[in-house]
Amino acid sequence: MPAELMDGVALARAIRDDVAAGVLVQRARGVAPGLAVVLVGEDPASTVYVRNKGRACEEAGMHSETIRLPASTTQAEVLAMVDRLNADPAIHGMLVQMPLPPQCDADAVIRRIDPAKDVDGFHPINAGKLLIGERDGFAPCTPSGVMELLRRYGIATAGAEVVIIGRSNIVGKPMASLLMQPGVDATVTVCHSRTRDLAAHTRRADILIAAIGRPRFVTAGMVKAGATVIDVGINRVDEPRARQGYILAGDVDFAPVSEVAGHITPVPGGVGPLTIAMLLKSTLVAAARVTVP
Ligand code: NDP
Repeated sequence: MPAELMDGVALARAIRDDVAAGVLVQRARGVAPGLAVVLVGEDPASTVYVRNKGRACEEAGMHSETIRLPASTTQAEVLAMVDRLNADPAIHGMLVQMPLPPQCDADAVIRRIDPAKDVDGFHPINAGKLLIGERDGFAPCTPSGVMELLRRYGIATAGAEVVIIGRSNIVGKPMASLLMQPGVDATVTVCHSRTRDLAAHTRRADILIAAIGRPRFVTAGMVKAGATVIDVGINRVDEPRARQGYILAGDVDFAPVSEVAGHITPVPGGVGPLTIAMLLKSTLVAAARVTVP
């Protein structure tokens, strides 16, 4: 029997509606939640992401600022912009869109962001809070979106074998942190390019999470019957018949894997839309933490 599709578009819609309602509550107490996004240079994919973030903010009734800086911007100038936004009371959440041009040190920029405004959850303070289970930080948006999907579809995590392929600071590692916390209680294995006999691990998984960046890497033979398969990957694959000359493919070979899995996320329309929804949610949380005199 084919797997049940996990609909990230519908869930993102519901989260964004909840955020819009929360924004009204904040506005009623005199706080207009605000998100600032800093874009350095003109990377085409980043430009699209940043535009989408701005639109999503406005739709949720949030204040949104997009700061576009030229590709020649120096490290000192980016840091000065972060300082300005750290000090701006109208901004509750901020992020600097990655990748940055080579003259800018991304780690130094992330460290400069006030952890209380770091709604991407990349600052070491927030990464540490996530790992030790302190709930007053921010978790990265993509793995947080995966957690929402698991909850929404009633996928049991307690005692479940979870295998994550990928150990990036953006997806794999925070995903593992979220899933191993008491209360979530999964048994987590994190695999990467040096893992021996990857399929032996993935075939054990009740929940398999792919965050690799390689199109259709996970094949049906790597998946246990009935498993939940979460595909974080977003890859451009050349397709001359497509209008733009490419299509988007996940890290999972969708059609054959969906014959084996119990639940599966599509690409597009799975994890992707949840990332922005969770960014809005975190910005709302940041605004709600502000005390008003
Ligand atoms: P990274 O390139 O930072 O990490 C990829 C991980 O996959 C690395 O840990 C790497 O191992 C591992 N890997 C690569 N090849 C293999 C292999 N042959 N076998 C096992 N493991 C392997 O990518 P990200 O985590 O940033 O992103 C992963 C994917 O998710 C991308 O497609 C990206 O576009 C997508 N993404 C989607 C988001 C969304 O909003 N839905 C948000 C963020 C990312 P090693 O560490 O050993 O190199």
